Amino acid sequence: MEKKITVLRGDGIGPEIVEQAIVALDKISSKYGHTFKYTEVDMGGCSIDKFGVPITDDGLEKCKASDSVLLGAVGGPKWDNVDPLIRPEKALLKVRSELGLFANLRPTKLFSQLADSSPLKQSIVGNGIDLMIVRELTGGIYFGKRRTDTVNGEKTATDEMTYSEHEIERIGRVAFESAMKRNKRLASVDKANVLDSSRLWRATMHRLSAEYPEVEFSDILVDNTAMQLIKNPCQFDVIVTENMFGDILSDEASMLTGSIGMMPSASLSETTLGMYEPIHGSAPDIAGMDIANPLGTILSAAMMLRYSFDMAKEADDIESAVNKALDDGYRTGDIMQENCKKVGCREMGKIISSYIGR
Ligand code: NAD
Repeated sequence: MEKKITVLRGDGIGPEIVEQAIVALDKISSKYGHTFKYTEVDMGGCSIDKFGVPITDDGLEKCKASDSVLLGAVGGPKWDNVDPLIRPEKALLKVRSELGLFANLRPTKLFSQLADSSPLKQSIVGNGIDLMIVRELTGGIYFGKRRTDTVNGEKTATDEMTYSEHEIERIGRVAFESAMKRNKRLASVDKANVLDSSRLWRATMHRLSAEYPEVEFSDILVDNTAMQLIKNPCQFDVIVTENMFGDILSDEASMLTGSIGMMPSASLSETTLGMYEPIHGSAPDIAGMDIANPLGTILSAAMMLRYSFDMAKEADDIESAVNKALDDGYRTGDIMQENCKKVGCREMGKIISSYIGR
């Protein structure tokens, strides 16, 4: 199979970690006889420096014309004070909305080899946490109307949170389908005791649940979810929620796994085009030092194979290579444990590639 991948290395550690994901993808292509054609596009601070904008129209067109997009991370202190209209993060929002990336999938996995790194007690994490957060990405309060007015002589700000039935239904379907491929349990998170948008969310999810009788479905309020993620994270299989609740809960969940460097993500559209990136930022404090953990990006590449290219076997191959490298004690600095072998970013990439080759 031949696939076109647009590569957005971005800033900070972005170029280093993306390079290791490409090493893994190249090993997959030679092992399984696929061809991956890469097109490099500048995004974030590097694009501001070259072109004065965080992504050019031409870059955006290249993303749209590809089969999928692989991203490192954008931003850094150098661009913290640029005009807010051209900040590096603006490019992220632009790519998400132009590509129609409405579904953000964040698997939250505490590898059993790294159980000590979780801030939770062993009695709570058991043999490892393994849940999937499905977050709606292009609706809700982040995309609603906003204004700052003066009301009765006082400055007043308003942000509107709007959801239509079709927006809820399409993210709901992604979540139910995802649960069908996992352990067939889905928790829908809302604030239906207060918000109208949540009541529509809940009613729509209940209607959809009738189409998936095999999935054990439940509702849970967002405040209770925040608590349950700490109290008993192993109860969850798939969680689906709206944009802002998902933003907050997925960051909370990511901390349960010990290192942000291990966590991949996928942002999916209504076609097979998706964008894949680790959940962390550009880590300017360790950029260029060859110490960043590339596993979140390598696992994002595995998600690309699974979700955009329908290459489940190849995705499994990358995931089991990561597992074996951890089993054999290879660790980057952020996940280093006693009696393990400390390796750099490039070395970890080489190790994963050699395990894929076996
Ligand atoms: P960060 O995720 O970049 O870093 C937080 C901490 O985690 C740092 O100590 C860093 O060294 C460490 N870390 C992150 N990734 C790591 C990895 N792969 N291996 C080892 N350690 C790792 O968050 P931040 O410092 O708040 O943000 C830095 C910049 O990244 C900011 O400009 C921010 O706006 C941007 N950012 C970009 C994205 C994105 O591109 N999607 C996401 C979040 C933040």
